Amino acid sequence: MADTIFGRIERGEIPADVVYEDDRALAFRDVNPVAPTHLLVIPRKPIETLSAAEAADESLLGHLLLVANRVAAEAGLENYRLVINNGAGSGQTVFHLHLHILGGRPLNWPPG
Ligand code: AMP
Repeated sequence: MADTIFGRIERGEIPADVVYEDDRALAFRDVNPVAPTHLLVIPRKPIETLSAAEAADESLLGHLLLVANRVAAEAGLENYRLVINNGAGSGQTVFHLHLHILGGRPLNWPPG
């Protein structure tokens, strides 16, 4: 897949406000937050979209959810929303799989 800005963050080539990292995942603050707390969780593996994930990624995908919950708890969020935009038509702009963690304000349902 093509390199992305998240690939460059993952390799430490450009700065980000990293709040968590381990051997498989990284979490950092979204540069353009749409909620008082807006964090992104990415796999170190450059998977383009959720649709591009494979059976071999099952454990990694579960890990990303657990990282998201841990990061949300550490940010003090009791209530939060996870969002994965899958494809340009859903609003995905960076083609390196990422989970948005949104919290710190009332979150309406259904989302737009
Ligand atoms: P999506 O639209 O789901 O692909 O989300 C991409 C997100 O990445 C957006 O919320 C952007 O604000 C965020 N973003 C883009 N560049 C950076 C960056 N350099 N550091 C942190 N967040 C970024």
